[in-house]
Amino acid sequence: MLAERLAEIVGPGNAFAPDMIEPRYLEDETAGASGRPSGLVRPATTGELSQVIALCHENGWPVVVQGGRTGMTRGALPRDGELIVSLEGMNAITDIDPVAGTLVAGAGVPLETAQRAAADAGWQLAVDIGSRGSCTIGGMIATNAGGTQVYRSGMMREQVLGLEAVMADGTVISSMQPMIKNNAGYDLKQLLIGSEGTLGIVTRALLRLRPAVSGHETALCGLPDYGAVLNLLSVLERRCPGKIAAFEVMWRNFFDAAVAPGALPDPFDRKHEFYVLVETEGFEDGVLPATLALALETGTIEDALVARSGTDRDRFWAYRDHIGEITRSMAVVEPFDVGAPLARLGTLVARIEREFAERLPGCRSVFFGHIADGNLHVAIELGSEDQRIVSERIVYDAVRKVGGTVSAEHGIGILKRDWLSHSRSEAEIAMMRRLRAAFDPGGILNPGRIFEQEKPA
Ligand SMILES: Cc1cc2nc3c(=O)[nH]c(=O)nc-3n(C[C@H](O)[C@H](O)[C@H](O)COP(=O)(O)OP(=O)(O)OC[C@H]3O[C@@H](n4cnc5c(N)ncnc54)[C@H](O)[C@@H]3O)c2cc1C
Repeated sequence: MLAERLAEIVGPGNAFAPDMIEPRYLEDETAGASGRPSGLVRPATTGELSQVIALCHENGWPVVVQGGRTGMTRGALPRDGELIVSLEGMNAITDIDPVAGTLVAGAGVPLETAQRAAADAGWQLAVDIGSRGSCTIGGMIATNAGGTQVYRSGMMREQVLGLEAVMADGTVISSMQPMIKNNAGYDLKQLLIGSEGTLGIVTRALLRLRPAVSGHETALCGLPDYGAVLNLLSVLERRCPGKIAAFEVMWRNFFDAAVAPGALPDPFDRKHEFYVLVETEGFEDGVLPATLALALETGTIEDALVARSGTDRDRFWAYRDHIGEITRSMAVVEPFDVGAPLARLGTLVARIEREFAERLPGCRSVFFGHIADGNLHVAIELGSEDQRIVSERIVYDAVRKVGGTVSAEHGIGILKRDWLSHSRSEAEIAMMRRLRAAFDPGGILNPGRIFEQEKPA
């Protein structure tokens, strides 16, 4: 019945009853168990999506929005009775302005496709994340995705000039003017960005591109302690202002796992406590090596390898990108994405390591992150499923103690819902709930994500 009514809107090829749903729509990156959805719909246009959501609103049918299902907090995985609304059919890049440096992308456009289109026009889309082949522009806006270039260019929020979205009653709001300044009342698009599909469904975005830059300089450095990591960042900031494209830190436990027997060769002839992958962009050759030579003289770094070719650059990035293999080698893995003020991150890691050793002895863990953004990732291999909650308590209690955040870039979804109050005050959460009730009084959009299931207003 539901499928028939939806088929009238989107056509029979894009509306499916529960038994006809392909398994991929019931799986995501977290390998969590899916509920039994009430159906699946794949609108091709904003108009179709608007009609679908208006129908759901009238009938009180809950929906779960799906982009590329690469999210790390189980937000896109259907729960019992939810209608899956997949945006993958809305995948057109309709406008590229090579003069102004803007691009209009449908919510279902994969990041990599948008990056290529920007590059073909002589610009760059300055966000990059490991899931680029599958994650979508809509999902990235919904989660305010970060990645490896945030320090220079900001998160997804900073790339969005205009947005179109379908609200919980089917109303379409559209603010697609290519303007950097627009202070005419509330900036609704900024409220929608990072709201994880709980305030509205993103359908199209007008993205701001950045000038394409040539001339990467890349280096892999070994450092003695966390203080030296902060010193190196400070030296780089002063000598290469605005040019630091990446500053990826790997703690020794991470690097040891990357160079373990059978993995990658160790490029250094001695061990270091910290490893930093630095990349600068748009400089004359030689500025980064000269800066590192200075850092070597003052003892900030113990060793540095500078890339002489694209092959070297790929080789250095392979250490940082080895995280996929490291976590795949862990039988039961719990990944964390947390944040803290830069000066407290070293203390945060020391506290977590101490607690892991005491309360989860023998569990292997690795630490790494986009540290210039105050963003730390931790992955721990647990001995059993019931140790999961222990590891979460250790990490999130430590985060609370240093005044950090339980989610630096992945969002809250379902997996981090119980920990929201570790980073947000009661007053903040109450205000978020009031916003949610104002945008979606019936509570049909992604219910139970970010907060416990709310009663319809
Ligand atoms: C290998 C790998 C590396 C990653 N690296 C990073 C990283 O560096 N930085 C980072 O931030 N994340 C990273 N991620 C996480 C993930 O890729 C991002 O969260 C991404 O933004 C999710 O996009 P998606 O299209 O897959 O969204 P989905 O997983 O489909 O959905 C994510 C959430 O957004 C909602 N949603 C999806 N589309 C829409 C829409 N059009 N309108 C409203 N709500 C919507 C969903 O309901 C869900 O709650 C990584 C993931 C993987 C697997």
